[in-house]
Amino acid sequence: MKGSVFSGARPTGRQHIGNYLGAIQNYVKLQDEYDCIYCIVDIHALTTLEDLSEMQYNIREMMLDWLAAGLDPEKSILFVQSHVPEVTELHTFLSMITPLGWLMRVPTFKEKARQQPHNVNYGLVGYPVLQTADIILYKADAVPVGEDQLPHLELAREIVRRFNHLVAPVFPEPQAKLTTAPMIVGLDGENKMSKSLDNHLELAATAEETEKRIKTAYTDPQRLRKSDPGRPEICNIYSLHGFYDPENLEEIAAQCRAAEIGCVDCKKKLAVALNASMEPFRERRAEFAARTGYVEEVAADGAERARAIARETIREVKEKMCLL
Ligand code: ATP
Ligand code: MG
Repeated sequence: MKGSVFSGARPTGRQHIGNYLGAIQNYVKLQDEYDCIYCIVDIHALTTLEDLSEMQYNIREMMLDWLAAGLDPEKSILFVQSHVPEVTELHTFLSMITPLGWLMRVPTFKEKARQQPHNVNYGLVGYPVLQTADIILYKADAVPVGEDQLPHLELAREIVRRFNHLVAPVFPEPQAKLTTAPMIVGLDGENKMSKSLDNHLELAATAEETEKRIKTAYTDPQRLRKSDPGRPEICNIYSLHGFYDPENLEEIAAQCRAAEIGCVDCKKKLAVALNASMEPFRERRAEFAARTGYVEEVAADGAERARAIARETIREVKEKMCLL
């Protein structure tokens, strides 16, 4: 029997190269070895309650990115979280066995509470419980994610162990699956590339937008003029060359150290390499976007298939919790 994989991402809109290199490329690869389920977690997006009017647009943009990246609805289940309401039922059951202290210690909770002190809502502290429900509703063994998600996954395993111990051994302990690029640094050269920090490069951006955005990136802060020798090992533009321009990597490092190439030219080279590598993605994306009703069809079919599995898990959980 194949193992099963689950991963979800909040519908924050278009995906960036951090999302791709850290997570989506694994989503694609795992499709052949596992039964894969990928979910756009719209309920999770409600915890930060900003412009909700963008929700449906963002869900569609994200699904288009996933399809263009190679997620195949013939192989995998692609769906939207709220279309399978069983997840909220499991979330409620899990919340009865999850100690509040565990949740209050989660680093992302503390961070969000700092970022939105006017809106430290009940859903925010329960975020990892809902995330656990997402994963175990499908009894997933493996969860492809970026490094920033590891604390959440550790907590999911703790919740599973507690459920299995206190109620009945129903769920496997989900394991994280990292790519070889589990943490891509953003254009600020400092923080994790992230949509909310606006330091990202969108997969679906045009070639011109990409070049323009790369121009704004921070490089070696000690290199003030082109004639100063650079330090590729601390430059994020150089590290991105490693993913998009690996053949020329040694040459770029040597030219940078010898001050033969300036940061402006180095960025231009990166833009050319990145755009060349993204071109087939961008073409496929435009094709999917032009097919009227296609994204909606994929999501509806995915929800139906996901729901059949979810119903079965909920039945089992209710039985073990003496609710039937
Ligand atoms: P937000 O800023 O709203 O949190 P994000 O840009 O961090 O958005 P998410 O939707 O939180 O993106 O992440 C989706 C997936 O991509 C997760 O598995 C996450 O671990 C991974 N990921 C996000 N950013 C990076 C990054 N910079 N490097 C590697 N993986 C990443
Ligand atoms: Mg994030």
